[in-house]
Amino acid sequence: MKIKAAVIHEAGQPFQIEEVDLAAPKTGELLVKIVACGVCHTDEVAQNQIIPVPLPAVFGHEGCGIVEDVGEGVEDLKKGDRVSFSFGYCGKCENCMTAHQHACEHFNEINFGGVMSDGTTRLSQNGVKLSSFFGQSSFATYSVVHQDSAIKVTDDDIDLALLGPLGCGIQTGAGAVLNRLKPSFGSTIAVFGCGTVGMSAIMAAKITGCAKIIAVGGNPKSLELAKELGATHTVNRKEVEDVVAEVKKITDGGTHYSIDTTGVGDFVRKALASVRFMGTCVVLGATGDLTINVQEELMGDAKSLIGITEGDSIPKLFIPRLIEYYKRGQFPFDKLTKFYSFEDINQAITDSHSGKVIKAVLKMS
Ligand code: ZN
Repeated sequence: MKIKAAVIHEAGQPFQIEEVDLAAPKTGELLVKIVACGVCHTDEVAQNQIIPVPLPAVFGHEGCGIVEDVGEGVEDLKKGDRVSFSFGYCGKCENCMTAHQHACEHFNEINFGGVMSDGTTRLSQNGVKLSSFFGQSSFATYSVVHQDSAIKVTDDDIDLALLGPLGCGIQTGAGAVLNRLKPSFGSTIAVFGCGTVGMSAIMAAKITGCAKIIAVGGNPKSLELAKELGATHTVNRKEVEDVVAEVKKITDGGTHYSIDTTGVGDFVRKALASVRFMGTCVVLGATGDLTINVQEELMGDAKSLIGITEGDSIPKLFIPRLIEYYKRGQFPFDKLTKFYSFEDINQAITDSHSGKVIKAVLKMS
């Protein structure tokens, strides 16, 4: 069928909405009419080929929509069902089978390899194959996605258009806290970076009952919102001389946990320095080279430094739980969102990049 999709033909080029062909869903797959799709930094990273997804390609990996058709072997979903998407995984490797699908041994091939999990493509243009992204390519009016990556939304009273980002940025931050760190009552945590991932970690930390939640950022408006979402303290890194000293002062010697969401090596190091003896620092931002003195900065204080992707979440379990907390008013992630029309995709990316908006979401119609 003919659909509209935002295509990238060459590295760094702006998104261009064009007509492309979408093949019918194969075994285990769904055809979904996309309602909305969040814009994530990872799309920009792929657009600029820092992640070398073969071009031409259609990006977009925080999609949601309504099932239009199903391929063979799909039993749990049918036409008319509302679904939100998450990342792809094989379901067969050791990590998938031990409920760590974010660490699927085939994660890179399935999500960044340009093909669906069976190794073939569904998108093309004038006979030329277009790469898929995260097995969904949802910067488009329709998408073919594997049923394993689709989460059924059973609440009719929830705005479906809000939900796409739960499948990536939001679960990354919230899951790091709720699935991995699981802070006990009275714990303290510092979150570096106040974008979607950081804000989601802050809301999650509040749910767990952390006694002190410190948001570290450089944008006064974002820090204000961080407070509204659950931060008990804020540190504006542009206004204080020593961020680490500030965090230590607030927590009497350092936090139990810290999370870096910035992907900037210097902040990762500061996040690590901010935790107390035996504390844990989690890295959620894609960070390049970083030099630390292992004895002085890590081992000597018995600290842990760990990396997690996608919040170590099982999306089909975790996303419905986040929606439940949202409905109770305990996870108000809608406060991060600003909607744009699909045609304004490049503006949405510019605004996300400049910090004007925290989570831009494109509405397809
Ligand atoms: Zn796997």
